[in-house]
Amino acid sequence: MSLVTLKEILAGTRENHYAVGAFNFSCPEDAEGIIMAGVEKQAPVILMVSMNALKYNGLKATIGMIKGMAEAVDIPVCLHLDHATDYDLIKECIREGFTSVMIDASKKPYEENIADTKMIVEYAKEYGCSVEAELGMLGGREENVVVEDSSAAMTNPEDVPRFVEETGIDALAVAIGTAHGFYKAEPKLDFERLEKITKLTDCPLVLHGGTGVPEADFRRCVQMGMSKINYGTAIKSVFVGAVAAVAAEEAAKEPGKQDPRNLLRPAKKAVAEHVGEKIDIYGSTGKANKN
Ligand SMILES: [Zn+2]
Repeated sequence: MSLVTLKEILAGTRENHYAVGAFNFSCPEDAEGIIMAGVEKQAPVILMVSMNALKYNGLKATIGMIKGMAEAVDIPVCLHLDHATDYDLIKECIREGFTSVMIDASKKPYEENIADTKMIVEYAKEYGCSVEAELGMLGGREENVVVEDSSAAMTNPEDVPRFVEETGIDALAVAIGTAHGFYKAEPKLDFERLEKITKLTDCPLVLHGGTGVPEADFRRCVQMGMSKINYGTAIKSVFVGAVAAVAAEEAAKEPGKQDPRNLLRPAKKAVAEHVGEKIDIYGSTGKANKN
């Protein structure tokens, strides 16, 4: 299929009590692992790239690669730029064919967050690209962006309706107690806050910092109306672990018999299995053709 927008892929999620997984990829192999999981589970998937991973792979190569992978399968795939603060880069991604971008102006004051987000939404509209924005601030590390726990702030439900209405966004990232990266202690999610937010807006909601969130909490969030769950950090570990498990054996082979694919094939498979488990938990298994 052709790439679909975030708006399309999230349609019907809240009413039907499932969330679409947004999985970070770093290279072609983990991207393919994520898509393999989607095909296996017949689930829609969001392929998510950070600004750093975009630099590593190259902007045009990223789009060509994911577009090609999506066209080879029969499940909805969305290409999403995660946590972008560079507005020129966001616009370039929109022009070049991304079907979704996240503008992260959450560190700015409320009014500025509205103004900047609105500007990107208007730009994206011309190209048929979806936009996600964030209210509140998650702690932890997202690639090179570090937010100290002391400055992390939960989303104030009362800020939500005006933000959604004035900006015209397609999805809203909310801070309800999760953090980026691995957790030092088990996260405590603020479900009351989530409930208030779902009552105040129909805009699809996004949970960031999925790695390390207990399965029961994921399920509860989805039942309460979470539409998109971001998951990244653990995928990197799964990939590295799978390569490391076979690296010494491959390195010990005669030079003529060594093959990078012997390192990458198991990694791709390990990512697919891990992502497939998350898809089951998010409830999107079998939802590829429901929208
Ligand atoms: Zn995030």
